[in-house]
Amino acid sequence: MKKTLQFLKSLTLSELLKGLGVTGRYLFRRKFTIRYPEEKTPISPRFRGLHALRRYPNGEERCIGCKLCEAVCPALAITIDTELREDGTRRTTRYDIDLFKCIYCGFCEESCPVDSIVETDIMEYYFEDPSKRVITKEQLLAIGDKYDQRITAMKVADAKYR
Ligand code: SF4
Ligand code: SF4
Repeated sequence: MKKTLQFLKSLTLSELLKGLGVTGRYLFRRKFTIRYPEEKTPISPRFRGLHALRRYPNGEERCIGCKLCEAVCPALAITIDTELREDGTRRTTRYDIDLFKCIYCGFCEESCPVDSIVETDIMEYYFEDPSKRVITKEQLLAIGDKYDQRITAMKVADAKYR
């Protein structure tokens, strides 16, 4: 009986017609897909993407090398070395983040007392060489400098959700 039904189904092409019916139903409906990267979906103000280190308006780097972010990082992705400057302030000599280890939890940003390390909404980055996965202090500061206004706008938007 089962085989007869299967034979009839294949003979009448009923499954093909059923499939075409689904296609036809969705043909004129509103599309769920977009043409990325030309079109983009909205990103939550709380999205956590590529990291950046920020400076004060006078150009001085914010980071005071307290290592709270390093201590709180659950993935052990941050490595910091520090030194004392001649004026007695402490600054980092090394600030590395292993982006392969990072789970983008945002704990580093949350723990920072001076708003230095942040996670931007940048998600379009990639590595062709796995050895480039560690992002250095210089690179992080350069990202912070380049996207300073964008980061400030993100911080303002994020504050509304707190
Ligand atoms: S986002 Fe989370 S996992 Fe990534 S560096 Fe910061 S604390 Fe570590
Ligand atoms: S980024 Fe912030 S939490 Fe991390 S060492 Fe610098 S000042 Fe401390």
